[in-house]
Amino acid sequence: MAKIAFIGLGNMGGPMAANLAKAQHHVTAFDLSAAAVEAVVEKGAHKAASAAEAVKGAEIVVTMLPAGRHVRDVYEKDVLPHAARGVLLIDCSTIDVDSARHVGQLAEKAGLEMVDAPVSGGVGGAAAGTLTFMVGGSETAFARARPVLEKMGRNIVHTGAVGAGQAAKICNNMILGISMIAVSEGFLLAKRLGLDAQKLFDVVSTSSGQCWSVTNYCPVPGPVPASPANRDYQAGFTADNMLKDLKLAQQAAQTSGASTPMGAEAAQLFNMFVNAGNGAKDFSGIIRMLDGK
Ligand code: NAD
Repeated sequence: MAKIAFIGLGNMGGPMAANLAKAQHHVTAFDLSAAAVEAVVEKGAHKAASAAEAVKGAEIVVTMLPAGRHVRDVYEKDVLPHAARGVLLIDCSTIDVDSARHVGQLAEKAGLEMVDAPVSGGVGGAAAGTLTFMVGGSETAFARARPVLEKMGRNIVHTGAVGAGQAAKICNNMILGISMIAVSEGFLLAKRLGLDAQKLFDVVSTSSGQCWSVTNYCPVPGPVPASPANRDYQAGFTADNMLKDLKLAQQAAQTSGASTPMGAEAAQLFNMFVNAGNGAKDFSGIIRMLDGK
């Protein structure tokens, strides 16, 4: 099995690294938080004193960090200066397309293959090993990354060159942010019209308004027992993370010249929701703000 350095062991990276260790890979783990490192050491990983130490001797380097600046920093200071020849770099963080392409170019200059492989599926998917990976990189890099990603996820999709993973991720999440607002408005209008939420669900979930935000993540309590609406909008997928992805989508829309008026509106509404102190709540809780609460 492979020698894997894993950097960034937060809500997502921790369980992902644990799944690699469970699959008998030799995982050397580093995070700025000592507690996060200890948690994965208990699950069979080995502790590194620094990111550079984790990278030395690794055949594969996986990063799962908060944002583009962290990935650029870790790549420039720790990963690229210490990675041996032939090492495969896999960045699973959700970051801006430009940063993904930038570190991809730095890796290429250093003679290393890199893929951007952001995920969908949340903390539950990370723990269960059922994440979806959207992977940008060359055919050969994708072929090398795939067996490793399969230990952490179920659906592994090659979306194009480096940066195409991030592009797919932000397009998906922009659709999700918009659709959650649309579904919330539908259920709020139904309430004003005296229509029962379960009845609306029964119709919409089998009609042309059907989408994931209705059938898997309904923002009102009742119709979908597993949705965060049934537990006071405890995340789930936080409003902070949704806002982050909507901002990334807007940034990409501006640099690429795409017209995304609904995406811009969704970003503004989630900004208001987060600024009202709801950043840690599930993003579907935006229905409360739309309801004037
Ligand atoms: P998190 O904040 O829980 O974890 C990030 C970890 O990175 C932290 O433990 C932090 O200490 C560590 N870190 C930061 N800088 C570091 C450095 N220089 N060296 C080593 N470690 C460093 O975040 P998360 O929820 O695990 O998310 C990670 C990424 O995955 C983000 O880009 C996020 O957008 C994306 N994502 C999250 C979810 C989710 O539901 N949480 C879902 C899909 C994608």
